[in-house]
Amino acid sequence: MPTQPHDDPQDHRGLSKKGGLWPPRPSPLDLIGRIQKAKALYERMDEWSKGHPALICLCKDLDNRLRGLALAFQQLGAWDVCRMCALGPKGACCFKGAEEWYETVHLLVNMIMGVDLEGIQVTEEQCPFVGEKGCILRYKNEFCLDFFCDRCKRELGMEKISNLRSLAGKTIAIGITLEHLLYRILKSDL
Ligand code: SF4
Ligand code: SF4
Repeated sequence: MPTQPHDDPQDHRGLSKKGGLWPPRPSPLDLIGRIQKAKALYERMDEWSKGHPALICLCKDLDNRLRGLALAFQQLGAWDVCRMCALGPKGACCFKGAEEWYETVHLLVNMIMGVDLEGIQVTEEQCPFVGEKGCILRYKNEFCLDFFCDRCKRELGMEKISNLRSLAGKTIAIGITLEHLLYRILKSDL
């Protein structure tokens, strides 16, 4: 039987296949406004997460994947290459403007993953998420995770890079499922 236009078929996790409000559309808020909105939602998480066990499972799953990914970046030497590069005269590849890839939902996911975004300052020089030891975010944008410059490729080799990309892809897939569920729960609040 054909699906009625008003039907919203759901997958085995109960998520809308139509996508609802996902993917996120550019917010009219600036970065600080988006951080404040994410913080207000995060502070009420006990209230809105009730009755959504899938949310808790996805958060745990993402947390584990992010730990595994961070470990892989460290063990395969990617962090060392980028750290040395960041200390050099040209600095790392993180650039001003990348923060605009992060909508309220991405900032909220980072807060759920334990990232403290208090005191973030927007400057004209660099991405505001660059901290003393590199990027402070745990849940990064696909472009941030997937970019490997020529130096990185040369020093690590393509096999390690494709391993990292594969792990990153699986992590991003969990993250997108979580974003999707957050939109479903929070609807227009997000
Ligand atoms: S990806 Fe390349 S340019 Fe970016 S921090 Fe790493 S080594 Fe530097
Ligand atoms: S990796 Fe982090 S610091 Fe670098 S551009 Fe992306 S969000 Fe900014």
